Amino acid sequence: MDFETTVTESIQRTRNIISVRFAKPEGFEYLPGQYIFISIGRGDAELRKPLSISCSPTEGFLEVTKRLTGHPFSNALALLKEGDKVKFKGPLGYFTFLGEYKKIGMLSGGIGITPLRSMIKYIIDKMLDTDVVLFYSNSYEDDIAFEKEFEDLEKKSPKLIIVSTVTRPGPSWTGITGRISADMIKTHLPDYKDRVFYVSGPTKMVDSSLNLLKEMNVLEAQIKKESFTGYD
Ligand SMILES: Cc1cc2nc3c(=O)[nH]c(=O)nc-3n(C[C@H](O)[C@H](O)[C@H](O)COP(=O)(O)OP(=O)(O)OC[C@H]3O[C@@H](n4cnc5c(N)ncnc54)[C@H](O)[C@@H]3O)c2cc1C
Repeated sequence: MDFETTVTESIQRTRNIISVRFAKPEGFEYLPGQYIFISIGRGDAELRKPLSISCSPTEGFLEVTKRLTGHPFSNALALLKEGDKVKFKGPLGYFTFLGEYKKIGMLSGGIGITPLRSMIKYIIDKMLDTDVVLFYSNSYEDDIAFEKEFEDLEKKSPKLIIVSTVTRPGPSWTGITGRISADMIKTHLPDYKDRVFYVSGPTKMVDSSLNLLKEMNVLEAQIKKESFTGYD
């Protein structure tokens, strides 16, 4: 389905990640984890990209969150102001969660957090009886989008654990370091074999995570993935 909507707000999440909020058009319904194709500009100047919806259907707005790359679509998104109009197509995708499983593990690299943020917010707002452990890997501590919000959600829900790791930590980072590894998963998620995994991020991160889970003998049928092609 095609929709047109209006920008309501732009939020700087980190030094190079922004969220843009839109009015949720009447008749637009989506599932946590789905994405849309956003078009900015018109005619020959139209720029179009797929972006996951980073808000939850329990929230009254529509939000996407983008890593700024300095490329044309990124720049156009960053320039959007309250009242500007954009077109979008959707919802699309099967990387969704509505409470089907009681225990899930999530692996996210960088901006791949967006569909998972939608699912986590949905689980908490709907008070679903789902136990979630999110492994959230970023290059630098300054890159961690939704960091404060996740801390607050973790305090609110005993069923949510966030394992945040940084691969290139600065001197002030006191948390976990390094890529998501088998040891890290086994330490924080001893019952990993009983879980369904949601893996999301740039293609290389998703592929290496799938290999890791395979090496840990997690069945393919227990893994769902969203690859952000376009960052390779
Ligand atoms: C289902 C799905 C969901 C997605 N959800 C999100 C999301 O929620 N948030 C998000 O940020 N992205 C998401 N993406 C990725 C998004 O669609 C874009 O592909 C991505 O953001 C890059 O777009 P861009 O216009 O900024 O950069 P592009 O111009 O498309 O460039 C992509 C990257 O390639 C490199 N590059 C491009 N051209 C060159 C060149 N000539 N030489 C060298 N390097 C080059 C740049 O470093 C850049 O980082 C999603 C993708 C899919 C498929």
